[in-house]
Amino acid sequence: MLEKVESTLDELGLHTMSELLSSQCEQSLAKEHSYLEFLEALLTEEIEERKRRSFEIRMKTASFPFKKTLDEFDFSWAKGVDRRVITELAGLGFIHSATNVCLLGPPGVGKTHLSVGLGIEAIVGGNVVYFTTMAKMANELGGLNSLRRARKYLSPKVLIIDEIGYRPIDAKAAVHFFEIVSERYESGSIICSSNKGFQEWGSLFGDSVLATAILDRLLHHGVVMNIKGDSYRLKDRKRQGIASHLEVAQAYEKGATIE
Ligand code: ADP
Ligand code: MG
Repeated sequence: MLEKVESTLDELGLHTMSELLSSQCEQSLAKEHSYLEFLEALLTEEIEERKRRSFEIRMKTASFPFKKTLDEFDFSWAKGVDRRVITELAGLGFIHSATNVCLLGPPGVGKTHLSVGLGIEAIVGGNVVYFTTMAKMANELGGLNSLRRARKYLSPKVLIIDEIGYRPIDAKAAVHFFEIVSERYESGSIICSSNKGFQEWGSLFGDSVLATAILDRLLHHGVVMNIKGDSYRLKDRKRQGIASHLEVAQAYEKGATIE
């Protein structure tokens, strides 16, 4: 009987229920569960396992360069990052309104970290996210004749485009990029980051009219964050630097001589 039910569950694609059937039978007998309680426990396991698997798959297909969460972000270090805005974004309302997020600032101030952190929140919320860099995207778009092969940039609920501005974009890629931004306009969010101010996007895309059209769509429903300050990557090195200078100064005070 047990085996027959297990194979029926497998046939129906309810593999977790099948796997746990025997142990749940024992547990439910011991706890004197009703039929409904028994069924509910098994169904809950199946749903939880599916959610876990779906989360893992979405994390994998998101192609994050690293996995850092918003909890790991030090808001006291970052200048120009409004914690309330990030918390609001983490509530994921921005996805439902297809609002874009643009993070601007010099290298090392946490643009990628914040993008990934928001991306992870979006995945936890059940959304499909895809992370890419402008360089990768431009390479690929430059070789396309139509957007039919660009589904991965169109279908995710959240598209993260990192590092806009490190390399100029060729004309064909720029036009496809514009088409993608237009297609996503008011239907899917873009989180982008750039080390260049918007006024420099004209030369970046090699066409100021095109750049204006891209920015028009990107910023119509958009949150812009101008991040300032020093690179977090250099933070510890700087601290070490200060420490060593202090040590030298203290040593002099104690009468040290230069060797
Ligand atoms: P950017 O994309 O602006 O160049 P990253 O997001 O790649 O910078 O940050 C560089 C490194 O420093 C990453 O490991 C990131 O996690 C870390 N980092 C940057 N800013 C912060 C911050 N405010 N709090 C914690 N870690 C940070
Ligand atoms: Mg970065």
